[in-house]
Amino acid sequence: MTDRYAVIGNPISHSKSPLIHRLFAEQTGQDMSYEAIEAPLDGFAPTIRRLRDEGYKGCNVTVPFKFEAYALCDQLGARARDAKAVNTLLFQDGKILGTNTDGAGLLSDIENNLGFKLMWKDALLLGAGGAAAGVLWPLFNAGLGVDIANRTLDKAQVLAEQFKGAGTVHARTYEDLAGRKYDLVINATSSGLKDELPPLPEGLFKPGALAYDMMYGRETPFMAFARKQGAALVSDGLGMLVEQAAEAFQVWRGVRPDTRPVLEKLRT
Ligand code: NDP
Repeated sequence: MTDRYAVIGNPISHSKSPLIHRLFAEQTGQDMSYEAIEAPLDGFAPTIRRLRDEGYKGCNVTVPFKFEAYALCDQLGARARDAKAVNTLLFQDGKILGTNTDGAGLLSDIENNLGFKLMWKDALLLGAGGAAAGVLWPLFNAGLGVDIANRTLDKAQVLAEQFKGAGTVHARTYEDLAGRKYDLVINATSSGLKDELPPLPEGLFKPGALAYDMMYGRETPFMAFARKQGAALVSDGLGMLVEQAAEAFQVWRGVRPDTRPVLEKLRT
């Protein structure tokens, strides 16, 4: 019988995950299906329990449910425990197991696909939601100092407190960023979904800097801002999406697909 998987989010119609997993399944000869399911904003947990009870094998979780997914799990992997956010669920013997592949996906894209060296660099992470939480530990692990800026400062402060043992980290307001410069600026806000730009000051990018928007599928206001401000490298989050999907696929199927042909196909 075909094993069923899904991605759960709200909104979800823009998601490329079903196509990516279909290409992975073809490449590795796995008998599986993968669909996009929109959960009501107040109905995430019942949706997940229904999928588990209907015999689905696992699912991905995206905006805005990653913290709720963390709270729902019976068992957590180390990456999910660090992040307190979950993007990959595995249903096993009636239990919900959770992990987080966002950080590994981001690092793999930045270092392997974009060829950007992270060691000893200064990073600014915009946003303090599930995606930001998922990538913080791997960023510290790669040797970066990280400033976290968020519209709602409290949430950035909670993250900075949570990760203060892991490396140099500060919570900042957007006003605080005036006069500061970074090698790497990651937009982990969902501002691009509404074609909005976080209120960033000018002069944010050091020479050689990478501006990375986790959003994908179109040029975002953040990417346009970064180009205008002279960032040396500007990338959307399509590579991260493919790499985090490959990590999730490995968790579910025990095999890591080759991401390069899939990324090339999506880019064309
Ligand atoms: P959450 O809903 O958990 O968090 C959203 C964050 O965006 C919050 O910090 C929020 O600030 C901030 N925000 C929203 N709108 C604005 C705005 N107009 N200006 C400034 N800040 C804003 O979402 P996630 O963290 O799960 O996802 C964030 C984004 O990352 C999404 O676009 C998602 O698609 C993308 N993503 C991409 C991945 C990839 O593989 N490429 C993987 C994971 C996520 P506040 O706290 O003040 O509300």
